[in-house]
Amino acid sequence: MEEMVRVLGEDNITSHPPRRIKYYDRENNQLDSMGFNRKLKLDEKTAISIIRKLSRHFKFTEPEIYFYGNMDSGYASQHENRIKVAHEPTLGTLIHELGHRYTIEKHLVSEKFHTKKLIKTVKRFAKYIMKKNYWKPVSSGNTR
Ligand SMILES: [Zn+2]
Repeated sequence: MEEMVRVLGEDNITSHPPRRIKYYDRENNQLDSMGFNRKLKLDEKTAISIIRKLSRHFKFTEPEIYFYGNMDSGYASQHENRIKVAHEPTLGTLIHELGHRYTIEKHLVSEKFHTKKLIKTVKRFAKYIMKKNYWKPVSSGNTR
């Protein structure tokens, strides 16, 4: 397991709004440059399936997921293994919140959460999802 790394300087981004926006811009730009379809909306079943697959592959505890509202925003609990996203979350928001749970569980955060470790984690998730085409429906369900 990686050792806990204390993040310094410009990575200390959380509560101050302008710097927080800068974090999201950076994450979004990097995902876009990978060709990752972060704005794709998922149904709940697909979102749950992606969480399960990522948590198995990257070996972290599968979080509980709560769906609420229609705003594409999310929340990850620091002390409980739980995330919240909209009823039709975008891929980008889903893996961002999952990234929080991963970095918290693997002790990659100190008192700050929006760090380079998080971007790196989110990009690893994105790369894996792209490789596996996880957002694509498996079938129409008529398998019987
Ligand atoms: Zn966040």
